[in-house]
Amino acid sequence: MPELPEVETLRRALERELIGRRLQSLDIYEPRLLQNASEEELQRALVGQTLQSVGRRAKFLLFDFGPHTAVLHLRMTGWPTLTPVQTPRFVFRFDQKKTLYFSDPRRLATLHLVPTAHAHTLPPLNGLGIEPFQPTYTLKNFLALLQTDQEIKRLLLDQRKIAGIGNIYACEALFASRIHPQRPAKSLSRAEARRLFAQIEKILARAIAEQGTTVKTYRRLAGESGNFQNFLAVYDRAGEPCVRCQTPIERLTQGGRGTYFCPTCQHRV
Ligand SMILES: [Zn+2]
Repeated sequence: MPELPEVETLRRALERELIGRRLQSLDIYEPRLLQNASEEELQRALVGQTLQSVGRRAKFLLFDFGPHTAVLHLRMTGWPTLTPVQTPRFVFRFDQKKTLYFSDPRRLATLHLVPTAHAHTLPPLNGLGIEPFQPTYTLKNFLALLQTDQEIKRLLLDQRKIAGIGNIYACEALFASRIHPQRPAKSLSRAEARRLFAQIEKILARAIAEQGTTVKTYRRLAGESGNFQNFLAVYDRAGEPCVRCQTPIERLTQGGRGTYFCPTCQHRV
């Protein structure tokens, strides 16, 4: 699933290609995509408008068309691209012959229409937690979130608490911070919490610089892979030697998701 670095990589490319272009028509081919507006309502709100910006909140892309914003979540396999795809879930046709196609084999992606002025106070954005690289991401706010028995890995995946992190970067940040993924959040020492707080932003920033991680399906706008998969220390490396201590990396399941960690570097305590 695309996480913050993958969505940010796509956002930058979409903005470069489409900003300032006027939407001439749109077609929705997958009704399940639409969460709160019909195809006709989307057409009325967006067609004829100029794309002002492409923003991002956590893993959501925000296409700001002036009065209204289309909020897209890619979920598992969603992929926006300017290259024609075989079964597009939607097509946005802009002037100057730029067309945005949306591919989504698993059909789990979502599209909301919201008034731009209130976008962040309405679903789906209103319930999101603090976010790396945003002013809300302070050590004080982070420490406050940790005052719970919840396992630290599961807390990192809880978008209502910290938004933008998914399975790959949660595993990587915990490894870099030498914290066992099943530790109760409130058992972390202040030094461990500080390390984790810093490593989350450090790893996400590096992943953005490397244009995301391609393990299964993620692709950049023009179809290229990301590059951060070449720098993963634990994710998807079960049985391979730890980059720090050579102990084989282990995999366990938390909340139905695979967690990768080094049993030597990441003590359970
Ligand atoms: Zn190790």
